Parts: sequence; structure tokens; C-alpha cells
Amino acid sequence: NGSLGVYEAFQHELVQRGLPYKLELVQEVEHPAVALNASGCHGFCQMGPLVRFEPAGILYCKVKPADVPEIVEEHLVNGRPVERLLYHHPATGRVVAREDDIPFYRHQVRIALEQCGRVNPEDLNDYLAHSGYQALEKVLFEMTPPDVIKEVLDSGLRGRGGAGFPTGRKWTFARNAPGNKKYFICNGDEGDPGAFMDRSVMEGAPHRVLEGMMIAGYAIGADEGYIYVRAEYPLAVKRLRKAIADAEAAGLLGENILDSGFSFRIHIKEGAGAFVCGEETALIASVEGQRGMPRPRPPFPANSGLWGCPTVINNVETLANIAPIIMRGAGWFRRYGTPGSPGTKTFALAGQVAHTGLVEVPMGITLREIVFNIGGGLREGKSFKAVQIGGPSGGCLTEEHLDLPLDFDSLQKVGAMIGSGGMVVLGQDSCMVEVARFFMTFVQNESCGKCVPCREGTRRMLELLTSVTNGKAAEEDLALLEELAQTVKDGALCGLGKTAPNPVLTTLRYFRPEYEAHVRDNK
Ligand code: SF4
Repeated sequence: NGSLGVYEAFQHELVQRGLPYKLELVQEVEHPAVALNASGCHGFCQMGPLVRFEPAGILYCKVKPADVPEIVEEHLVNGRPVERLLYHHPATGRVVAREDDIPFYRHQVRIALEQCGRVNPEDLNDYLAHSGYQALEKVLFEMTPPDVIKEVLDSGLRGRGGAGFPTGRKWTFARNAPGNKKYFICNGDEGDPGAFMDRSVMEGAPHRVLEGMMIAGYAIGADEGYIYVRAEYPLAVKRLRKAIADAEAAGLLGENILDSGFSFRIHIKEGAGAFVCGEETALIASVEGQRGMPRPRPPFPANSGLWGCPTVINNVETLANIAPIIMRGAGWFRRYGTPGSPGTKTFALAGQVAHTGLVEVPMGITLREIVFNIGGGLREGKSFKAVQIGGPSGGCLTEEHLDLPLDFDSLQKVGAMIGSGGMVVLGQDSCMVEVARFFMTFVQNESCGKCVPCREGTRRMLELLTSVTNGKAAEEDLALLEELAQTVKDGALCGLGKTAPNPVLTTLRYFRPEYEAHVRDNK
């Protein structure tokens, strides 16, 4: 988006003016001085490149390198914010200077993302200055492994990768499983189209992920961990590698961490772009060097996972919640969200909404609040039609669901799921059959082919959907499509196949007249 150019322009401008811009230099000189820092994703993608001034929290939007001299002159030297580059409310034109007052941010609660956009992801010292590794120190010196598991259980944290399984219970199973060798795996294989939550955390706060892994390793009795990350995320891979090297050099990772007697090593395994490798047993097979295909469960990975050893797999966002839970306590975490789904959830807000980007909201928030308060409503005066939530495993929700509290259980009741957190907002002119066909094309391509219901079923469903959209379907094909969707859901081996029909089933349930109109028009 041009952010690096803006960063370089600031460096150049500050040097030109003789202003020290490195933190070490700033500490040695009299004011005025400025520390220039790079950060990960702020979330407000549509308004980038973003530049925030601390400590006032003033945010400049859509900054170009050519704007930098004016910002330095006006803001830094004369103490006057540059109004034209501040956020202008699209409806009222009101100018908002502080990031926290911008509607996109004001309605969010940032826990997993709290350091994204605030901490330099390539600087261990910056992470330490923002309370980094304090939670690790606390568990190593003040808590037993059962204490840590109890805190996570009490927090009610559920896995953010899609299924929503209680994290503390997974840890308990692995801790209680017999065996001296145990593993912990961080699942960073985010493959949903349009999703970039885990990517932003890995790129924006890699040490937070490592800290969560180490705490989990200590809790379950593992001394080795893997991060399974998509090879299509080269920046995340680079920053994770640097974070591992820096933490090792500082004695925060490796043998006898902080002289506590606890040792933990972390390896990176780059995935090769298969969506199915996000499924736990396929991911384990891939780390072992085999073809990434799911296997039947049980045995569950907590009992027999990587190389037959007890293994816990947690998603990146889940791990980003661990350090704050340890530092601030389970009670604090439960202040957010609902009793059944405590805490927050990140969503990749995309589609025809005015403000797209990465958002983190308390569980239980309504779709209406996300789409209209945070997202600013629809672009170009369009009216709201639907939200496709949860990517290819999720479903399409309609206007009647705008006031539904979003959490794991309420979404399941209406046939959708949070999934990993993709959220595509659709306006009045979107064809819901095309939306279903798009996701079916994706899962059909990604089906690993191991079991018949998914391998054959998704192919036939895609054929039927294509015949609906290209004018060849008959009335009875809709019933066949529905029956096939249910069969795939019931009969597929793994989560990919079991959830693949969700976009079709929800669009048939809530937008059936559109399917019927296609069939009618075909005649
Ligand atoms: Fe493979 Fe699909 Fe069967 Fe999963 S459901 S094992 S992805 S064929």
C-alpha cells in the first residue's frame, strides 16, 4: 500500500532537519526529538498507509510520501495536526483526530490484536517494553502447570480457528495423556479466501504468538513446538524466524529458559498451500512430511498426535489471547463476550462495506454493530442484503440476523459458524447463488479426495450450482442439491467436507427465491 515509502520519507525528512529519529538517539538529546517506529497492521486497511503520533494517538490516513514534509513541519514543529489527512466521517464530514475516537476503532475491543499496529514486530526490546514475556515469567516462577491450565479453563477461552473447542480442556487432555514426549503446534495455516486475521497477528506481534506457545508448552509438559504457517505468508515467516532467533539470543527460548529449568524449542514448518492442512490430523501428517490428508478420529491428537505423541494444536488467534489471560486473569477476560463464548473475536471485514479491514470485537456483538457502526454501512448508498460469515465453512446470513448476537453457539443455531472469521458484506445487487458457487468451487478444488462424500459430492454440487447459474437447471435439481448437501454434511470424513455445504444450505434456506428465479428464468 506504499507504507514503506512513507516510512522512508519520514526517515529522510527527519535526517534532513537534523532531528534524531532512533529511540536510542532520542534518549540522549534534548527535546525536540522524535522516535520513529514501524509497526504491523493497524487493521484499518482501507485507510492505509496510516501514521499514528504518540502519545496523543492522532492518526493520519492515506498518507503518501509527498505528505511527509507537511506533517513534520505542521505537526512536529508547529504543533498543529494536518487536518486534511485526518479521518473525515463519510456521512457527516466530521473530522476525527484521535484513533480511539474513529468509529472503526471506537466499537472494538482489542486483546488478540492489542499489539498489532503498536509494537515494532521486528524489535524484541519494543515487545519487552510493552510487557512482553512477563506472562511467561509469571508462569515459570509463580504458577504450576495445573495453575496455568486452570486459569485458561476458568477464562472460558475457546479455540478461535473455527470449531470453538475449549482451549483449557485440550490442554488438560494432553497434560493427562501418558508419555514423556509431547508437542505443541501453532496452526497458522489460514487458508480461507479473504481471511487475514492470523496473518496480521503473526506479522504484527510474532513474539505474542511465541509467548503463548511457550506458556502452553509449559502447561501441557511439552518441550518442543512447531508453527505451521502458510508459505504464501512470507512476511509472517520472516518475522517469526527473526522473533525465534531474537528470543533464543535473549535466553527467552531454548534450553533452561530464564534459569527456570523449563526448556522449549520452536520450529517453523511452511505449508504448501492446501486448505485441508488446517485440519488437525492433516496438519500433523504434513509436519511429519507426509501428504496432508485427514485421518479418522479417535485417536485424538491430544492422545496420539505428532509422531504418535500427545499433541495440542491451537490457532494463532487463540494463542494471542494467552498472555493477557495470564497477566490480567480469567475474571478480566470473562468481562468481555458472552458466558458461553467469553472474550473477543477478530474478523476480516470485507465486501461492499464502507470501511474494510481487520476488526476485533467482543463476542455477542451484533452483525448490525459490525456492519454499520464499525464498517460504516454499505458503500455507494447500497442497501444491505447479506453477510457471508466464516468463509467456505460458514454460511450466509440475512437482514433478519442483523440483531443476532454473534458467538459460537448462536451462529450454529442458524446454520452458520464463525469459522476462522471471514466476513464478507453483500449489497442488494449480489447474486447469492453465485456466492454459494464461489465457495463451492473453492472447496471442490481443495477437497483432498480421501472420502467419497466430499470428493464426489462437492463436484456434483458444483455442477448443479453451475447449471442453476447458466440456465440449465430444472425445478427438481434444487431438491437434489439440497439432498446432496445434507449427504455430504453427514458423510464426509473431516471438517472441510462436513462444513462445505454450509454456504449452499444457508443460501437455499434464506434466499431460496433467488434459486427459483434462476430456474424460472432458465425456462
Ligand atoms: Fe478429504 Fe474432503 Fe474427505 Fe476431508 S471430507 S478427508 S477434505 S475428501
